[in-house]
Amino acid sequence: MAESVAAYVGLGSNLADPLRQLALALAALSALPDTTLQAQSPFYRSRPVGPQDQPDFINGAVELRTELPPLELLDHLQSIEARHGRERTRHWGPRTLDLDLLLYGQEVIDHPRLTTPHRELPNRDFALQPLLDLNPALHLPDGRALTDLRLQCPDNGLERLDPEPAKPFSRRLE
Ligand code: ATP
Ligand code: CA
Ligand code: CA
Repeated sequence: MAESVAAYVGLGSNLADPLRQLALALAALSALPDTTLQAQSPFYRSRPVGPQDQPDFINGAVELRTELPPLELLDHLQSIEARHGRERTRHWGPRTLDLDLLLYGQEVIDHPRLTTPHRELPNRDFALQPLLDLNPALHLPDGRALTDLRLQCPDNGLERLDPEPAKPFSRRLE
């Protein structure tokens, strides 16, 4: 049996009912072969990176334990994105589902299709914060602690979503 690795995947969506997209993505991730979904982070709302004329994003992250080699895991992530009808229109534009492989154990991978740790991780509160929720002790292979990166990274107006949103009309019944 292959050795298993802790891999962290960032989830994002800003189209077509983002919370539903993330729920479907979690179901798909939990069904990956040779992989278990260990934990999921809370979800966050964040302002888009790049073009601002698009809806806010909903972001989260999951911890996987996987025996899949990194490029095979990426293949699966991309096929889940494709199944969710993702269209690549413009760079950093809106999308129904984006799955980024943020960390693959402590491996440093520099391949045309895959860079891990994800190149932009240190600059993105919407990726760092859910990872810290999953594991506050996480650090990059170069030793930098994610807690420190989180303190230094730009502010994307991150807002944690209530795990159980209040019912919209409950106040009226009081
Ligand atoms: P960003 O990478 O800045 O978050 P993006 O998510 O919008 O931008 P995509 O269009 O989803 O970018 O992906 C472009 C390419 O990035 C993919 O085809 C994939 O091969 C490559 N890639 C490199 N490293 C990674 C990684 N760690 N996770 C996911 N894709 C990666
Ligand atoms: Ca991305
Ligand atoms: Ca991506």
